[in-house]
Amino acid sequence: MMSYFLHRAGLDFMLMDPALPSNASRVAGGIVNPVTGKKLAKTWRVDELHPFALKTYQEIGKLIGAELVLQTRVNRYHSNPEDKVKFEEQAETQDWFKQYIQALQVNEPAINDTMGGFTIYPALKIYGIKLMDGWRDFLKKEGRFIEETFDHSQLEILPEGIQYQNITAEKIIFCEGWGVRNNPWFKDLPFNAAKGEALIVRIKGLLPDEVFLKGVFLVPLGDDLYYIGSTNEWVFTDDKPSPHKLEELERKLQKALNLPYEIVDHQAAVRPAVKDRRPLIGQHAEYPQLVLFNGLGTKGYSLSPFFAEQLVKVLLGESEIDAAIDLKRKI
Ligand SMILES: Cc1cc2nc3c(=O)[nH]c(=O)nc-3n(C[C@H](O)[C@H](O)[C@H](O)COP(=O)(O)OP(=O)(O)OC[C@H]3O[C@@H](n4cnc5c(N)ncnc54)[C@H](O)[C@@H]3O)c2cc1C
Repeated sequence: MMSYFLHRAGLDFMLMDPALPSNASRVAGGIVNPVTGKKLAKTWRVDELHPFALKTYQEIGKLIGAELVLQTRVNRYHSNPEDKVKFEEQAETQDWFKQYIQALQVNEPAINDTMGGFTIYPALKIYGIKLMDGWRDFLKKEGRFIEETFDHSQLEILPEGIQYQNITAEKIIFCEGWGVRNNPWFKDLPFNAAKGEALIVRIKGLLPDEVFLKGVFLVPLGDDLYYIGSTNEWVFTDDKPSPHKLEELERKLQKALNLPYEIVDHQAAVRPAVKDRRPLIGQHAEYPQLVLFNGLGTKGYSLSPFFAEQLVKVLLGESEIDAAIDLKRKI
């Protein structure tokens, strides 16, 4: 996303990434959801972030010739009687409910609906793998992609910029996700990484264009494939799929679904989450030529377009960094 906005601003840049088969963006469900969490909160700054995200994914899609975003609805079912009571209380007291919440819009007998639910609209589904593969091909053709792992020990900080091997630049922007733990300049920021796991399953006979949420998300991927996710874990030893989260995901899926399923894949990655749940973006206090775009946590697909554009403007001296995401804030 950073490289897209650098490209759009007509700036000269190179993107370096080893293009590994897995990272958080590839394992994500790609859902941009305006109403989240057990407490049914309106997502932070949804009214400005989501329309901007929709527009950005459409623009990139046009550039690379792919459909990257779908406006969709999330059909969410109450998991227990307390959830239902909470929902009814909020429906009466929260004005914004009318903007995003409707009566349940689907009747899907394959979902184990014991207490009713509601439909959240509009939500977005982003096709992240298509986006990243297509964008990488675009940058390769432009001669702007280096398929390598960046070695921090080789970075030379110059008075007015940086030098890395044969590249001299005014700035370096680190967008390393959980790879930030190896970054000597930014690794000590208050990250609170959360490992997440998901399944790809084949289900025959479930409505193909609806997102369901009943204890777990069921997100259609086409060809009878569904994304089932995701889990959260703050204490972990690796970023690989685990048997205990496989068991948790299957248990939740069986509770939600009245149809047989076949597991096609089991994936895991680490979300670069932050203690106060806001991104960590901006320039290093001592070396302003070192810049960070990180801390996207559980919401990379909604946050990244808006704040990547903002960071480009900040670097061009056209805008200030938003205090809520500034890496120099007190957390
Ligand atoms: C299971 C799961 C489900 C999720 N579901 C959603 C969802 O539905 N909606 C949503 O908005 N978000 C979701 N997220 C969160 C979302 O995935 C993250 O917020 C987002 O992907 C973070 O993007 P990132 O670019 O910071 O990190 P990543 O996607 O992990 O990318 C980091 C990149 O940096 C590269 N890198 C790291 N170190 C180096 C180095 N030294 N040299 C070169 N390159 C390097 C890596 O190769 C990688 O490509 C989910 C996450 C998980 C794990």
